[in-house]
Amino acid sequence: MQNLIKKIASDHPELEIAAGERFQFSPPNHLYYDPQTSYSSSEAKLLLLHELGHYLIKETDYSTDIELIEIETRAWVKAKDLCKQYGVKYDEDFVEDRLDSYRDYLHYSSLCKNCQLAGYQDNAGHYHCPLCGAKWNNPSHPE
Ligand SMILES: [Zn+2]
Ligand SMILES: [Zn+2]
Repeated sequence: MQNLIKKIASDHPELEIAAGERFQFSPPNHLYYDPQTSYSSSEAKLLLLHELGHYLIKETDYSTDIELIEIETRAWVKAKDLCKQYGVKYDEDFVEDRLDSYRDYLHYSSLCKNCQLAGYQDNAGHYHCPLCGAKWNNPSHPE
C-alpha cells in the first residue's frame, strides 16, 4: 500500500494523500485511505485507485441516485485502467459487490422512515413519500 501511495504521489504531486477513516476522495485534491481497513491489501489498493478514479474523472456533482451510480460506475471503469498502470490486480467480483452494496444502500435510503415505502426523488435529489408526504434528503456519498 505504501508503495502504491508513493507512486500515486509522484504521478500527481498536486494531490494530498492522507490517512483517514475511510477511502474517500474529497474535492478538489484530497485522497484519504484507511490504514486500519478490514479489507485485504489488494482490495484496499483497488479502493484507493477507485478514489483516484473519482479525482481523475473530475465529476463529483450529482443530485439524483441515478447520477450517483453513474459516477460510481465511471470511477470503477477508470480504476480498471489505473490497475494496469500501477500493476494492481483488478477484481471484477469485488467491484460488482461494491456496486451492489451501493445500490442496496441507495434503495434503503429511498425508503420512507415512517411507512417503509419507496419514495420518489425529485430533480434536486429530495425524496418524497407518496403515502405520508414525508420529505428527506439525498444520502451522501458513502465511500
Ligand atoms: Zn466511489
Ligand atoms: Zn411515508
